[in-house]
Amino acid sequence: MIATQTEGQLLSEKLSFEIKNCWETAKPEDFPKIHLFAEQYKAFLNKGKTERECVRQCVERLEYAGFISLDKALAQGGQFAPGAKIYQNVREKTLLCAVLGEKSLHEGANILGAHIDAPRMDLKTNPLYEDSGFALFDTHYYGGIKYYQWTTIPLALHGVVFTRNGERQDICIGEDENDPVFTITDLLPHLAREQLKKEASHFIDGEDLDVLAGSKPYRDEKAENKVKLEVLRLLYEKYDMVEEDFASAELELVPADKARDVGLDRSMIGGYGHDDRCCAYATFSALLELAAAEARPAKTILCFLSDKEEIGSTGNTGADARVFENFIASLCAKTIDAYTEMDLRLALSKSSMLSADVNAAFDPNYADVYDKKTASWCGKGIALSKYTGSGGKYGGSEANAEFCQKVQALFNQNKIRWQYGDLGKVNKGGGGTIALYAARLGMDVLDCGLPVLSMHSPFEVISKIDLYTAYQAYIAFLRDM
Ligand code: MN
Ligand code: MN
Repeated sequence: MIATQTEGQLLSEKLSFEIKNCWETAKPEDFPKIHLFAEQYKAFLNKGKTERECVRQCVERLEYAGFISLDKALAQGGQFAPGAKIYQNVREKTLLCAVLGEKSLHEGANILGAHIDAPRMDLKTNPLYEDSGFALFDTHYYGGIKYYQWTTIPLALHGVVFTRNGERQDICIGEDENDPVFTITDLLPHLAREQLKKEASHFIDGEDLDVLAGSKPYRDEKAENKVKLEVLRLLYEKYDMVEEDFASAELELVPADKARDVGLDRSMIGGYGHDDRCCAYATFSALLELAAAEARPAKTILCFLSDKEEIGSTGNTGADARVFENFIASLCAKTIDAYTEMDLRLALSKSSMLSADVNAAFDPNYADVYDKKTASWCGKGIALSKYTGSGGKYGGSEANAEFCQKVQALFNQNKIRWQYGDLGKVNKGGGGTIALYAARLGMDVLDCGLPVLSMHSPFEVISKIDLYTAYQAYIAFLRDM
């Protein structure tokens, strides 16, 4: 028997926008690809817990795919031809890569931007001290965190130290299962009666996030601060570093755990740094996929992985720096005859960008801060955030209707499931991304990324099918926008 739809049902189908669960709409034969992409992403996350480690992995893949560094390309002389694959590694923390298109940059580029920094604990410039028989590292947290989430979990120390002779030492302690780890202690509930009366934002202070680093004294009758001395001795033995070398070092404490599948159905991934490495990985993979598939894209395609988003995109490796503009200026200067600054301004203003950053997924445990009509949902595809900001859209970037419609139509044509992505109810909070820095250059830009649960915690959760959907969406945007 064929069930016939009523007139009302047909009308509703025609007029309503229905957001569906992608596991129900995807072809089952695509499931292995979805899980494989998730495995590759987990490997990227496990090896990329700092911005430097992400850049290092991406540069390896770029070199393997035949990209050459901007410095090398400039040294070779001559103009860059369509199909040229160029990348720029900016101080090991920000990465730009592009494949030059057939069309002139006067027609703009298709750009994907994401960030590779994530909230963490940085060691202070003079971090090591001894108290009550313990050696401790003093920290200054990086990015917006809930302090209490970072206590009583194993932490790994990653980073780079330059010793007084200028020698570089790369440090990674706590990732191998035989490595020691570090941890921030918390008060036992038995003695926490006063602590638990305080507001959550105050019951642990940012200044009190000090990390256990040792407890065994150096054996000497007369030496002072012997527990600290023993830690210094171990650092000297292994890394040739002395106390003053901390002053210039970049040492970051991050969760020591690996990314894991979540749920009996393995539909989700839990791990540190999904914000925004899931979008960074999906955008970067999209660019590599197209670089391999098409020798010469129509328009120039570009991927920008930036640092410092979590602290406002400031500094010379953040999106507010001129690094992004400089890279496009280099591409313009080497592809446009008699290049002037006008060429750069034109290229920027004609470009289109997706600011690929994560969104707050609807969480049934905290339903009252979300507006169900405009929230993003795990498993329902890529989330489009027309605007960001907080309290009356303040400080955000809003995409123009014309551009939003083009992106929506592009996704529809490519059968990419998309959903809304407003961040919470009005006046419940808010946030920003790198979109406003791209907007400042005059280009069209729309925020567009994955829904994430427990954002900024040591164990964030995303859906595997959203990751794959975003990857497909980014490919379509680079190729067809
Ligand atoms: Mn982000
Ligand atoms: Mn963030």
